[in-house]
Amino acid sequence: MEENKSVGNSPFGKTQGEQDKMEKIVALAKRRGFIYPGSEIYGGLTGTWDYGPLGVLLKQNIKQEWWKSMVQLRNDVVGLDAAIMMNPTVWEASGHVNAFTDPLVECKICHIRVRADKKDEISEHEKTHKDKTEWTEPRKFNLLVKAYLGVLEQEQTELYLRGEITQGAFVNFENVVSSTRVKIPFGIAQIGKAFRNEITPGNFTYRSREFEQMELEFFVEPNDAEADKWFEYWKKERLDWYKSLGMSADKLRFRKHEDTERAHYAKSAEDIEYEAPFGWSEFEGIHNRGDYDLKAHGLGYIDEDGKKFTPWVIETSGGVDRSALFFLLDSYREDEKRVWLSLNPKLAPFKVAVFPLLGNKPDLINKARSIYDSLKTHFMTAWDDRGNIGKRYLSQDEAGTPWCVTVDFESLDDDTVTIRDRDTAKQERVKIEELKNFISSKLA
Ligand code: ATP
Repeated sequence: MEENKSVGNSPFGKTQGEQDKMEKIVALAKRRGFIYPGSEIYGGLTGTWDYGPLGVLLKQNIKQEWWKSMVQLRNDVVGLDAAIMMNPTVWEASGHVNAFTDPLVECKICHIRVRADKKDEISEHEKTHKDKTEWTEPRKFNLLVKAYLGVLEQEQTELYLRGEITQGAFVNFENVVSSTRVKIPFGIAQIGKAFRNEITPGNFTYRSREFEQMELEFFVEPNDAEADKWFEYWKKERLDWYKSLGMSADKLRFRKHEDTERAHYAKSAEDIEYEAPFGWSEFEGIHNRGDYDLKAHGLGYIDEDGKKFTPWVIETSGGVDRSALFFLLDSYREDEKRVWLSLNPKLAPFKVAVFPLLGNKPDLINKARSIYDSLKTHFMTAWDDRGNIGKRYLSQDEAGTPWCVTVDFESLDDDTVTIRDRDTAKQERVKIEELKNFISSKLA
């Protein structure tokens, strides 16, 4: 067992056990190709991360499951993919140019900058100095990332990379209403990249400067009763979604925003938080944005009776990167013999791996290859014929692959294979022709 003693100003957690767990995840993510530091060979770029061969699949699976539950299975939500670069007036109208700010203080001893509202980070930092730490007065920093568009430097348009994907849904509100058959209450769902000049990127991918969001803007009749009803409805839906994908219920909670911390657009806001090694941390927000945004853009709605009004918006705004990090942390398991990721099979990068028992027997290799070729048309399927079977299992365990299929000499006689379960390490014998159904039924 790990000792949970305090390690002071650790980058990842307050105790040795928590810090170790984060370090293990960061190391595994790099070693196995989930997540690499961005632009690493040139010394990196703070707050950016690249998703490797396993990471891209994990993220894709999270997004696919989200889209399925939020769009595909519903008849009151439609999808959208708006541009990252928008006319800069969008951000003036939305209030982000004025109000999308974080307060920042700077330590006068070592010049490190910390968000003034992060009391824990401030007191952790103070412990690193023997002398009393003095901080500068808080200054407001705008989080929008600027970009320049156009060929001639003097004629370039200064714009912003979107600070939230949300505005795309609002500026297209009337387009969506007139080009589809949606009627209030209905939602617009979107997944995409957002950019923020975060003051203190950190905790691995948790606070990045480029990240992905998955959001629903749900438009309702403009009154408290409707808004409250849908707010509660979406809170439950979203929490249940994380649980349905295996996230531990006891590590999830809601946290209501204080009046002083709500975003400039929010009437009410609650976060879904996960108990990470670095503390309870938000990874999705449920917001009642009222009519703030549609009004700001001068947009409205006419119902079937010809009544004109500005709908209110209930928003669910989740982070793909923070979800991926928490799914990784939550599924991390180890014992004396092995490390494995007990990811829900729907999220696992590879669903199945196929091995020939021995890597130098053509009959075994050919049979295993034909199984691999057939399974990969249905599922992300891995192939491994290196080293011994034990090592291959360990390697797939770390990647979170739920099932490993081994072709042995018996397979040549009776067309059966062993299938080994990642979590129990138990093996059973299955007919080759039943493999596809075996896996599909568990993914349903
Ligand atoms: P925080 O208080 O942690 O800065 P926020 O309240 O500003 O977050 P929102 O604006 O509500 O976050 O964004 C919605 C979601 O987008 C967050 O719950 C999170 O999952 C994701 N997100 C926001 N900022 C970042 C970031 N810097 N890196 C990764 N994901 C982020």
